[in-house]
Amino acid sequence: MSITEIHLENDQLPTQSAPDVNSTYQVEDHVMVPQNGPQFDQILHDNKLSLRHAQPNELQINLGKLCNLACHHCHVDAGPKRTEIMTWETMEKILDWARKSNISKVDLTGGAPEMNPHFKPFCHALLGMGVEITSRCNITVLFEPDQTDLAQWYADNKVRLVCSLPCYTEDNVDAQRGKGVFDKSIAGLQLLNKLGYGHKPELSLDLVYNPGGAFLPPPQESLEQDYRTMLGDNFGITFSNLLAITNIPINRFAHALTRDGEIEEYQNLLVRNFNASTVDQLMCRHLINLDWEGRVFDCDFNQMLEIPMSGEAERYLWDIEIGSVAGQAIATNRHCFGCTAGAGSSCGGVLSD
Ligand code: SF4
Ligand code: SF4
Repeated sequence: MSITEIHLENDQLPTQSAPDVNSTYQVEDHVMVPQNGPQFDQILHDNKLSLRHAQPNELQINLGKLCNLACHHCHVDAGPKRTEIMTWETMEKILDWARKSNISKVDLTGGAPEMNPHFKPFCHALLGMGVEITSRCNITVLFEPDQTDLAQWYADNKVRLVCSLPCYTEDNVDAQRGKGVFDKSIAGLQLLNKLGYGHKPELSLDLVYNPGGAFLPPPQESLEQDYRTMLGDNFGITFSNLLAITNIPINRFAHALTRDGEIEEYQNLLVRNFNASTVDQLMCRHLINLDWEGRVFDCDFNQMLEIPMSGEAERYLWDIEIGSVAGQAIATNRHCFGCTAGAGSSCGGVLSD
C-alpha cells in the first residue's frame, strides 16, 4: 500500500480560502466538524488539484430516511420514526429523466430503501430500461414482517447488494447498530448465500466495514481476508468483496464525537492523513446524488448537510441536463477530509492502494 501522508503543523495551516476552484459552504445546524483549521479547498489548491464533476455515469438515489435501525454512525440520522420518503410521482420524474439521459447505473440508498412502498415497482421500471441496480441493504430488513419475500425477489432480479456489516464480532456490531443486529445479519447473509449471493457472479454481495470509533479503517485487503476467515469459519458465509469506509464526521457520528470530546482530534486525524491520490476517484466526481424529493447534490454527505449541487441554488434532477454536469464545481467543506484520508473512502470502498 502506498499512501501519501501530508502532515500539517499549526503554523503551516492556510489562512486564506482557495480562489475559485470550489465553493466552501458555511453549514449551519448540521455539521459538527469545527470550522477552524485547514479548509478542504485550500489543501486541494496547495496540491494543485481541483474537484469538478466528470461525466456522470450513475445516479445515487436516497429513497427516504425511514429505516428499521438507528445506528450510531448513521450520517442520514435515519430511523423508524422518520417520515421523509420518496413518492411515486417523484420516481416517475426520475425514470423519465434517466430514460432520456441513458443512465446505466443506479445506486439505491436510504434509510432502508426497501421500506419505501414503491421500491419494487421503481426497481422493475429501472431494470426494464436495462439499468444496473445496486441496493444498499442493512440485511436485517430482510426479516421485517412485510419483507419476507425480499431476499428471493433480490435474487430473482439480480440486484447487486451492498450490505453493511461493520465488524465480524457480535459485540462490535451490536454496539454500533443495536442489540440483536449481529445475529440477524448473520442469518440474513446465510439466507442470501443460500439463494446464490456471494457465489454466483451475477449475484454480487459486498459487505461494508466502517470503524467502530474515531479511527481510520485498517487496510481493506487484509481486513477482507479477516472477514473471509471469521465469517467463513464461524458461520459458513461467503461474500464478493469487502468495502472499507471511513466514518464522515457529520450528523449522528459527529454528535457522538462531540459528546465524547473527540471531534477535534478526529478531524485532525483526517486532515493529517490527506492523500492527494484519492481525489480523482472521489465518488462526487462520478455520480449525481438525489434526495427523497429529487433534489440534486454532489454526494450523500452534502445532501445530509443540505449543501446543493455545486453550491448553487437548489435544483431538481429534472432541472438539469446530463451533458451540463461535467466540469461543474463540487461544493466542499471540512467533512470532505473524511473521503481523502488514508486510502480514501467512497460508497465503493477505498480509492487508492
Ligand atoms: S446506517 Fe443504514 S441501517 Fe443504520 S440507521 Fe442509517 S440507514 Fe439505517
Ligand atoms: S464529502 Fe466526499 S464525496 Fe462528498 S463532496 Fe466532499 S469529497 Fe466529495
